[in-house]
Amino acid sequence: MSFKNFKVVEKMIFGRGSFVQLDEVLAAERKTADDFVVFLVDDVHQGKALEGRIPAKAQDMVIWVNVDEEPSTIQIDTLTEQVQAFNTKLPVSVVGLGGGSTMDVAKAVSLMLTNPGGSAIYQGWDLIKNPAVHHIGIPTISGTGAEASRTAVLCGPVRKLGLNSDYTVFDQIIMDSELIEGVETDQWFYTGMDCYIHCVESLQGTFLNEFSKSYAEKAMDLCRQVYLDDHVDKDDKLMMASFMGGMSIAYSQVGACHAVSYGLSYILGYHHGIGNCIAFDVLEEFYPEGVEEFRLMMKKHNITLPKNICKDLPDETIAKMVAVTKSMGPLWANVYGAGWEEKVTDEMLTALFRRI
Ligand code: NAD
Ligand code: ZN
Repeated sequence: MSFKNFKVVEKMIFGRGSFVQLDEVLAAERKTADDFVVFLVDDVHQGKALEGRIPAKAQDMVIWVNVDEEPSTIQIDTLTEQVQAFNTKLPVSVVGLGGGSTMDVAKAVSLMLTNPGGSAIYQGWDLIKNPAVHHIGIPTISGTGAEASRTAVLCGPVRKLGLNSDYTVFDQIIMDSELIEGVETDQWFYTGMDCYIHCVESLQGTFLNEFSKSYAEKAMDLCRQVYLDDHVDKDDKLMMASFMGGMSIAYSQVGACHAVSYGLSYILGYHHGIGNCIAFDVLEEFYPEGVEEFRLMMKKHNITLPKNICKDLPDETIAKMVAVTKSMGPLWANVYGAGWEEKVTDEMLTALFRRI
């Protein structure tokens, strides 16, 4: 048996209003007058208050990132070329300011600036050869745990798969709960439930250990304070829940909900947060208590999920989703342990999808 030896974010700042320290953090990386920084910013912030607060100097590059579609290898390669065309030098830092999508874009661009050949060839585990450019993650919506993780999830030519490596991990994160204030309720719920579901899958999984359990229990408690108690400090709490949920799965694994959600997302294009919610709602047999509590949270926030999405789809479309879902071996191993292959049958998965 070999134990995971994984890298964590080296430096972090937490606190309301801490975004103001980004300038100081970057000053430490800027060594000469023409050193430059690349800011990759979710375009939802364009023309808003946050735009005026980005500490960009004249020589820096600010790129607005559109996340209507989840990040793709093509998008990453285009952005990387854009940075390379802007300056023959490497930037001294790449800053990702936004949600899981934008943070993943920043991770991936910082890696591709030093690893040639295009991002698709690095989709997988530990394929990255060279250290990335210094990169900073600053969430403006919380739940995915992308700020804590060692992956950058990309839709590629063959499948949706992350650039998983120690080099992917941010060098610095800044968790300022003021930045997540303006998120619209549905999206706040979907992305926050990603964290809740990470905790359920981690805690109910066969890979569970005290490291993962400690983080997941606390993150789940924080989610309850956010989504059931409407706590006055809910933004700080959700921000910490997201980070701790990410730490929990780093040392365990996600489970049935993510496996089904990947199937939904790859074939029907559902984004991660809403895809997870749709999938979780039919998984009461796997996670009875978690699903019951999730429904309570949905009710409290008047969330309605799309229904009957798959009921009338052609058999071959369902078969494709079943194939993607079934291929998530490590996730099913976490659900069932050894011998999972016998339990994850086409019939069982087809029946699940038909209920979605
Ligand atoms: P997102 O980044 O896709 O953003 C969702 C929506 O919220 C977008 O419309 C965005 O513009 C908007 N938004 C962001 N900040 C806002 C703000 N402050 N105010 C108003 N609107 C705001 O959402 P997400 O759920 O955080 O991330 C999902 C992505 O993360 C997926 O691509 C998924 O694959 C990836 N992911 C990565 C990891 C990882 O470990 N790297 C883990 C889980 C998910
Ligand atoms: Zn997730």
